[in-house]
Amino acid sequence: MENRKKKLLLINPLHPYKRDALFDTSTISPPLGLGIIAGLTPDDWDIEIHDENFEVFQYKAVDFVGITALTSAAYRAYEIAAIYRERGIKTVLGGIHVSMRPEEALKYADSIVVGEAEGVWAQVLADFEKNELKRQYHGDLLSLENAPIPRRDLFHPGYSYANIQTTRGCPMNCDFCSVHTFNGNHYRQRPVEDVLDELESIKADHLFFVDDNLIGYSKSSAQRAVSLFKGMIERGIKMDWYCQASLNIADNEEVLKYAAASGCKMILIGIESEKVEQLKETNKKMNLKIGVDHYEEAFAKIHAHGIGVLGALVFGLDSDTPEDLINRANYAINSGIDAMQATIITPLPGTRLFDRLDKENRLLFTSFPEDWKHYHFLEVIHKPKLMSPDELMDTMHVCWEKMWNEKTLYRKMLKTLKATKSAKAAAWALTSNMERHNTAFGSKRAPLDINKMLGGLGATE
Ligand code: SF4
Repeated sequence: MENRKKKLLLINPLHPYKRDALFDTSTISPPLGLGIIAGLTPDDWDIEIHDENFEVFQYKAVDFVGITALTSAAYRAYEIAAIYRERGIKTVLGGIHVSMRPEEALKYADSIVVGEAEGVWAQVLADFEKNELKRQYHGDLLSLENAPIPRRDLFHPGYSYANIQTTRGCPMNCDFCSVHTFNGNHYRQRPVEDVLDELESIKADHLFFVDDNLIGYSKSSAQRAVSLFKGMIERGIKMDWYCQASLNIADNEEVLKYAAASGCKMILIGIESEKVEQLKETNKKMNLKIGVDHYEEAFAKIHAHGIGVLGALVFGLDSDTPEDLINRANYAINSGIDAMQATIITPLPGTRLFDRLDKENRLLFTSFPEDWKHYHFLEVIHKPKLMSPDELMDTMHVCWEKMWNEKTLYRKMLKTLKATKSAKAAAWALTSNMERHNTAFGSKRAPLDINKMLGGLGATE
C-alpha cells in the first residue's frame, strides 16, 4: 500500500423513522461504540465518524468502512454497506444486531464482528492490511480493566451531552431484553480510578452513564458506585448527569446521597408495569421483589435527594387489555414518575420474546432485513393476545395523548419541582417528556416548545 495514511470511515446509521422524528439533538446519544473502535485504531489511520444523527450519509472515498447498527437501523446499515461493496471497498459490520443475526449480516458485508469488538479489532485491521480479511470475528467478553478510551474528538459537536460506560453485563433475564445475550450475564466493572480519569477528560456540562444498571446487583457493586460518585466530588468533576439503575437504588441512602452530590439529576428505571401480572410476564424479578405497592415509597426516597425518576413503562404485553393500557398511562401520570417513557413491547432478535412470538406466528413484520425498520418501539409489530394490532396502536395514541399533552406535562413539572425541590431535576424531567412526545408523534405534529414551558420555571439553581 502506498505511503499515505489509510482512511477508516466509521458510520452510525440512522433509522428513517427516527430521522423523521429528530427535532433536536437532546434526544440522541453519541455513538460510543464507534468512538471505542476509533480509540483502538493505530495512529497510522485517518479516522472519520459519519453520524447520520446529523447528516444523511453520502459516499466518501476511503480505504475501509466499519458500520454499527441497532436492529431498527440494520437495513440502513446494509444499504450503506452496499454502496461500498459495489465499489470494491471492504466493509465490516458490528454491533448488537449483527451479533444477534450474524448469518443475515454476512450477506451484506465483507466481514462481521460478532460480540464485543475490543478483543478482535486489532486483528481485523491487521488482516485488512494483509488483504486477508476473514468473514467473521468473534469478540470475547473481556475484563473491563484498561478499557480503551473513546475518541470523543471524532463525535459530532452537536450533541447536547456526553456519555460514558463504566460496566457491562446483566445477571437478570428479562423476557424482552438482549443485553444479557450480547454483554453476558456477568456484571463486569471498570476500575473506578480509570472511570474518573476518563471523566476528567470529558468537556461537557451534561453526561449520561450508559450502563444498564450503574449500581449493579450486589452490595460491593453499589459500594463501587459510591466510590465513583465520591471520586467525582473529590476530583472536582462537575457535570449534571443521569443514569440507568434498578429500582432498588431507592433503598440505598448512601448511593443516593453521593449520586446527588456528584450531579445526578435523573435516574431511568425500568418500571415496566404497575401490575404484578405483567411483571411476571416480563420476568422483571427486581420489581416483583420490591413490590408494586412500594413503588411510590421508592420514588419518594429518590425525590428526597433532588433526583427525578424517568420511569420506563411497556405497553402491549400478552396480559394487557386495552383498559390496562389506559390504566398504565393514568398510573404514569398520577404516580411519582417524573418523566414517562411509554413504548410498545418490541421483540428484538436475541430475546426470548422474539423466539416465542416467531414460533407462535405472531410477528406482523418478518420480511427481513427490510422489516427491521419497524422494530423501533413505537409501532405494533406483533399480534397481541387480548386485542387486535390496530386496537393496540389506536390505544397507544390515546395513551400518548393523555401522557404528553402540554397541560399534563406542565403539571408534572410542577409536581417534580415540589417533590425534588430541584429546578434542574424538574427541567430535565420536562425535557425528557417532551423528547418522548416529539419522538412518538414524529413530523405528524409540531414539536412541543420547551422554552415556552421552561419560561415559567426559571430553570436555574
Ligand atoms: S431489562 Fe435491564 S435488568 Fe432486565 S435483562 Fe435487560 S439489562 Fe438486565
